Amino acid sequence: MALDQTWFSEAFEKTGSAFSLKAVKLHSEKSPYQEIEIWQTETFGKLMTIDGCTMVSTLDNFLYHEMMSHPALNSHPNPKNVVIVGGGDCGTLREVLKHPEVQSATQVEIDERVTRLAEIHFPELCDKNNDPRATLFFGDGIQWMKDAKPGSIDLIIIDSTDPVGPAEGLFGKKFYLDCIKALAPDGMLVQQSESPLLLLDLITEMHQAMRDAGFAQTHLLHFPQPIYPSGWWSGSIATKQANPLAQRLDEKAIEALDTNFYNVDTHKAAFALPNFVKKALAKI
Ligand code: SAM
Repeated sequence: MALDQTWFSEAFEKTGSAFSLKAVKLHSEKSPYQEIEIWQTETFGKLMTIDGCTMVSTLDNFLYHEMMSHPALNSHPNPKNVVIVGGGDCGTLREVLKHPEVQSATQVEIDERVTRLAEIHFPELCDKNNDPRATLFFGDGIQWMKDAKPGSIDLIIIDSTDPVGPAEGLFGKKFYLDCIKALAPDGMLVQQSESPLLLLDLITEMHQAMRDAGFAQTHLLHFPQPIYPSGWWSGSIATKQANPLAQRLDEKAIEALDTNFYNVDTHKAAFALPNFVKKALAKI
């Protein structure tokens, strides 16, 4: 069946594939940084797109937000100060603030309009924005990291758009050097790192750049994400010191997070790598 105007479609030129949802456009605006659109879909609830790329949907955002936050937070010995770069829909911030050991969580989003639209269309993701530990800062994450107090952050979560436009500078050695400087000695970074199936080269380049910048170790985790290219997504963790990760999973504390995807088993499974991924990363 050919798709008509009643469908939202995103074509991934780079990978010769596309994703579609039956949807009605509710809102469209051009911010100083990008074009933001909100759709009402038939099966995925609301959908936010930026420059035509899917960002967040009501139905499946929990997969990404939980897996971009809890595995890294539970791998850090004591994550008190957390910084999220990007993440304007506030879903990652919400998950981070579920951790009682987190004393401050700062979201550094370049485009305030993303957050204001999320507050209207995804209020469930913004329900912790008034937590006294939360700071919403609107500005460029690249500059923010350059100016950050050295050694002041325990965990940096880079929840950005793809490496084009304002997010391009968030994927490279120069930015990682600023992150290392801003991180405490046992600090860690986790960054959304695209599809292991379609963009494995990008993932290996990212890990190489993280190690070139001076991170002691890099690790990959993966999880399903239906609205992103191939439906299979990844996060990349870089640790300032050697950190074997996941040595101290506390089942009771994990249950208390009240998550829909993340648990002790999915934590372990996320770090189990398929052979072709292991092979590619072994070359670094
Ligand atoms: N989960 C999504 C994904 O993987 O496609 C990302 C969601 S979140 C909406 C991405 C956010 O990163 C956007 O709101 C965008 O404005 C923000 N962003 C892009 N470049 C940025 C930068 N240099 N500094 C801060 N935020 C940035």
